[in-house]
Amino acid sequence: MLYTTNPPTTRADFPILSTEANGHPLIYLDNAATTQKPVAVLQALDRYWTTQNANVHRGVHHLSQVATRLYDEAREKARVLLNAKSTAEVIFTKGTTDGINLVAASLSLSEGDEILLSTMEHHSNIVPWQLAAGKVGAVVRPIPITDEGEIVWDAYVDLLKSGRVKVVGIVHVSNSLGTVNPIKEMARLAHEAGALILVDGAQAAPHTLIDVQDLDADFYTLSGHKLYGPTGIGVLYGKESLLNAMPPYQGGGDMIRVVTFERTTYADLPAKFEPGTPNIAGVIGLGAAVDYLSSLGGKPSGNLRNDLGAAFAEIERYEHALLGYATEKLSKIDGLTITGTAREKAGILAFTLRQAHPHDIGTILDQLGIAVRTGHHCCQPLMRRLGVPATARASFAFYNTFEEIDRLADGVESITEMFA
Ligand code: PMP
Repeated sequence: MLYTTNPPTTRADFPILSTEANGHPLIYLDNAATTQKPVAVLQALDRYWTTQNANVHRGVHHLSQVATRLYDEAREKARVLLNAKSTAEVIFTKGTTDGINLVAASLSLSEGDEILLSTMEHHSNIVPWQLAAGKVGAVVRPIPITDEGEIVWDAYVDLLKSGRVKVVGIVHVSNSLGTVNPIKEMARLAHEAGALILVDGAQAAPHTLIDVQDLDADFYTLSGHKLYGPTGIGVLYGKESLLNAMPPYQGGGDMIRVVTFERTTYADLPAKFEPGTPNIAGVIGLGAAVDYLSSLGGKPSGNLRNDLGAAFAEIERYEHALLGYATEKLSKIDGLTITGTAREKAGILAFTLRQAHPHDIGTILDQLGIAVRTGHHCCQPLMRRLGVPATARASFAFYNTFEEIDRLADGVESITEMFA
């Protein structure tokens, strides 16, 4: 196949991509762990700290008003990014892990309730549920997956028949396999069975434009740092009626209406779930990342959602081409097995080599300036299911190039020769 597609951006937007690693030009293929940041985000952060820093929602003074406006504008951008109905449904968190912990801790669970989690979940969509289930005697049940890395549909349907399923937790795009799960259909079945669905969107949000209303997700979580924004900031989307019915996760300033020693009443959404001084710089940086992404689709239309739609169409087109090219190249290498061959995949290519352990692959590629991730990728139950201790994972962003994939393939090829 010929790959002639152009990237939707210029690499000059990402200064770190011009640096070196171990004497070689950096080839950054660990985007599922975290993405690099464009100048627009770095400048927004710098501008905030040098000229706009103040606490939000508290002061009448000029700086506090500036910071509050930027903070509130960023929430509106996050709302548009997810297509939530209202900013009341957009809770700022520390990241995906924090968002899932919030829901697992605040959702009302009872003894015997069942929580269905797919075998390909990240630990952050397993452990919070185990903690919550352990407190009340609820039960966590795994949804099996096929060898290719897809949900075993009949098993999912059967598990839902118990009548006890309270919530389904499912990753939208698997960080270890690249599988894109059929969230809309899973949500429909979960709802028919009277269950809620929480979607871990950490790896989906960077690759595709999310529409929580179309998916009919009850909860959707993402991390800013995987979306070209800063670390320490994320978004939890929740349907307003559900969030209203849930008690606060943590208490403190800003999340209250009236406090007395006898009784406290809580603020309206979203403040109810955001106690204490928030990560203001992180929120503003995330807003800048959404703006940056919206610029990748061509001429601005004046409508952020439309611009994001055009941008993500470009991002998906290009990243699919990268993934297709990488899959084609790597599968030709003797002794290489691709882990995760689902029909729908996004941006992630994991593999093992007959000749070398993933850790050796990672170390040798690093010597060539190529950053990939090796290990269990926080998915130990998945590794157990696949019968491998670990894999090597290349994960792509729209700033990666076909030449970088050639370098990766050459590097892996040289490892097979070295260990032959
Ligand atoms: N879920 C998935 C699928 C992930 O890839 C990650 C990050 N590796 C997380 C959850 C956790 O995200 P964070 O560490 O940003 O909270």
